[in-house]
Amino acid sequence: MSLLRKIDRVPQNRPVSVSSRSVFLIEDSIAVGMLLKNSMEAEGAIDVVWYKTYADAALALAEQRPVVAVTGLNLPDAPHGEILDLLSDLDVPTILFTATLNRKVRARFATPNIVDYFVKDAKDAFDNVAKAVFRLTDETAPPILVVDDSRTARATLVTLLRQQSYRVLEAESGTGALEILAGHPEIELVVTDFHMPDMDGHELTRRIRAQYAGDRLRVIGISTSSDPFLSASFLKAGASDFIYRPFIAEEVKYRIESNIETLKQIKTLRFLAERDPLTGLYNRRAFFEGARSAIETMKEQRQEGSIAILDIDHFKKVNDTYGHDTGDTVIRLVAEVIDELNGAGDAITARFGGEEFVMFWPNMKAEAVKARCEQIREAIADLMIPTTGAVLSVTVSIGAAIFQHTEGMDNNLNAADQMLYMAKNQGRNRVIYDAMFY
Ligand code: GH3
Ligand code: MG
Ligand code: MG
Repeated sequence: MSLLRKIDRVPQNRPVSVSSRSVFLIEDSIAVGMLLKNSMEAEGAIDVVWYKTYADAALALAEQRPVVAVTGLNLPDAPHGEILDLLSDLDVPTILFTATLNRKVRARFATPNIVDYFVKDAKDAFDNVAKAVFRLTDETAPPILVVDDSRTARATLVTLLRQQSYRVLEAESGTGALEILAGHPEIELVVTDFHMPDMDGHELTRRIRAQYAGDRLRVIGISTSSDPFLSASFLKAGASDFIYRPFIAEEVKYRIESNIETLKQIKTLRFLAERDPLTGLYNRRAFFEGARSAIETMKEQRQEGSIAILDIDHFKKVNDTYGHDTGDTVIRLVAEVIDELNGAGDAITARFGGEEFVMFWPNMKAEAVKARCEQIREAIADLMIPTTGAVLSVTVSIGAAIFQHTEGMDNNLNAADQMLYMAKNQGRNRVIYDAMFY
């Protein structure tokens, strides 16, 4: 019998507001509570409200429903885990932070509203709670696509995932799944059944793999089957993981989480490998890679494009006069202008090294390229860069060339470099574009 039923029942007919980002922390220990609150707030912009007794938490829950509650098992005024009964009565997604992990506690995990549990003395426990809270409150997390022809089987899985606060899309056939994927490029994870009338899970996985690589979209196969080879052949078709039915909620939860975590790590690694750490622009290697496919399209569609090299004027003097840190700030600001004025989509821009940048417009007419270069040159000259004691301004020289697809990238870069050399020679702070000589 829950304590709530004994003391004061939450009136059923009163509207309870759900605050979009608020998290209830229910913990009587000041030390533990403070650590938890700090880790959660450090992880993201979430509003953590802390209650130290059952009575206070119950009062607050009668007024407001948090997105998630993080709670200890026992409280001074509720020593037998009554808080869990209350949270489950109210269907509040709950993370349990417990000192002990025995069978009894684990059994609690079967209660649908308990989305996770962590053991207090485990390494990184506080950070892990914070990460779990962040995931549960993250409204930008990509949705999961669940594919199953059986409505009941689908519902079981969908309910489980929604309780974990995932956004879920559903398809009742392989064909339907492919359609939804095409319309929702943000999907990163598909959980699919094996036995389906139009195409089985293997076929669906193969078709998905023909379009999306494993480092972009994960597929988890799922099926009721006594055939031990089913999982192997799912993996062979390109699935990332497999779950046999009947499953326990905990297993599904961790497999989903680990696949999402893998994707996140791949994304971070890719970002680090492609980007220049100072400016966030593409580095040299990523530039050549990105340019390669753009050039293919240029050839096919007979597009007209240009390439340019931009170099900061007398940059050595900036470093010598104001120091290397100010030099770095200048490089970062110049990169910002390049990035902003080029907008999304029409240019591939990169920091090539030092104070030198490359801009490649695979589909832009000479007039527009000329205007763009002038606009960038002027915007940089207008920058007022605060330093200790003085306001600094810098200029850039730009050499641009019409892109010749009959030539390789190196020759095109060379052409732009020759124009840059002329710009420097003619006094800097100017754009020289070979289109002007045709
Ligand atoms: P010019 O007008 O002819 O381009 O002269 P410049 O001084 O800009 O050109 P130079 O190539 O002689 O000097 C470039 C300087 O950029 C030399 C190098 O120390 C500095 N540099 C290269 N990378 C970085 C960086 O990441 N940060 C900072 N602060 N300086 C850098
Ligand atoms: Mg089926
Ligand atoms: Mg320079």
